[in-house]
Amino acid sequence: MTPAPLIDRFGRTIEYVRVSVTDRCDLRCSYCMPKGFTGYEEPEHWLSFAEWERLLGIMARLGTRRIRLTGGEPLLRRNLPELAAQIARLPGVEDVSLSTNGTQLAKHARALFDAGVRRLNVSLDSLRPERVAKINGRDVLGQVLEGLAAAGAAGFAPIKINTVAMAGVNDDEIDDLVAYCLERGYVLRLIETMPLGDTGRRAGFLDLQPVKTRLRQQFGLVDAVLPGGGPARYLAAPDGRFTVGFITPLSQHFCATCNRVRLAVDGTMYLCLGQEEKFEFRPLLRGGADDDDIVAALRLAIERKPERHEFREKPEKLIRFMSMTGG
Ligand code: SAM
Ligand code: SF4
Repeated sequence: MTPAPLIDRFGRTIEYVRVSVTDRCDLRCSYCMPKGFTGYEEPEHWLSFAEWERLLGIMARLGTRRIRLTGGEPLLRRNLPELAAQIARLPGVEDVSLSTNGTQLAKHARALFDAGVRRLNVSLDSLRPERVAKINGRDVLGQVLEGLAAAGAAGFAPIKINTVAMAGVNDDEIDDLVAYCLERGYVLRLIETMPLGDTGRRAGFLDLQPVKTRLRQQFGLVDAVLPGGGPARYLAAPDGRFTVGFITPLSQHFCATCNRVRLAVDGTMYLCLGQEEKFEFRPLLRGGADDDDIVAALRLAIERKPERHEFREKPEKLIRFMSMTGG
């Protein structure tokens, strides 16, 4: 008999999980991880590939269809394509995707594609080297562009570019980024900064609604829906050659249709990006729990999923950085 799916108190079916495979990163984006940060998880607490496979396999039996590998920088986790392949083989999993800062992508693009990863999001906040250095902690623009080229050559399509749009930092570059993505067939996703940690709060919030109105008029864009598009709302060129998404957790939140949970590298499940509710799976996985125990724990965890974030009402509330939960 097929077990009942994971449905929370608000009737939302959970079918998507974002897995932070490491909390470490080779960059220090101004809106994400603070400079000099050292509060990393101990390596002995990192879930092993076998532990991920088991936990995610059980979740897949309960209806998880889509899994995104993220971090920290996921490509810093050794042999990540192997884990991706293990996950892609799990019965029920239809889609394995990756969010990366792109610095190591040239090396791994082919292996990731061969492992079954098909959807790729690459972070790129600017096309100007000195700006990349300022926003992301060092100038890695060349590496990221090489990574993007390798990903295209490996067969990833469409590639999505994630840009955190910040007032007075890179908002004057939005049109350049549109032109860049249009030329290469990339989907651009503009993201509002979320007040996660002091880094997120200080980043220069830019309301994307006026930007959306402007781009719609300037480029003659129309509303569009992208398969697996998640919380982004999309506009596209009428001939379909270009798509831009807007991730607007503050100016227009999307909690009512939230279908996801997040797992941190140590097996802690975070039930909402903007709230503290969590559930620790490592003690169960390492303490001899059988699959039924884990199923019961998953149902308990999902019961804790809050109705919505409160980024607007309580921006001071959280101390967790995005690098812990993978965005
Ligand atoms: N290191 C990878 C990367 O940068 O793509 C994956 C992890 S990163 C935490 C995932 C996404 O979260 C990135 O697109 C990043 O730009 C975004 N992000 C990080 N901190 C953020 C914040 N405070 N507000 C909005 N987006 C943020
Ligand atoms: Fe690293 Fe990604 Fe956070 Fe930037 S956004 S510091 S690349 S985890």
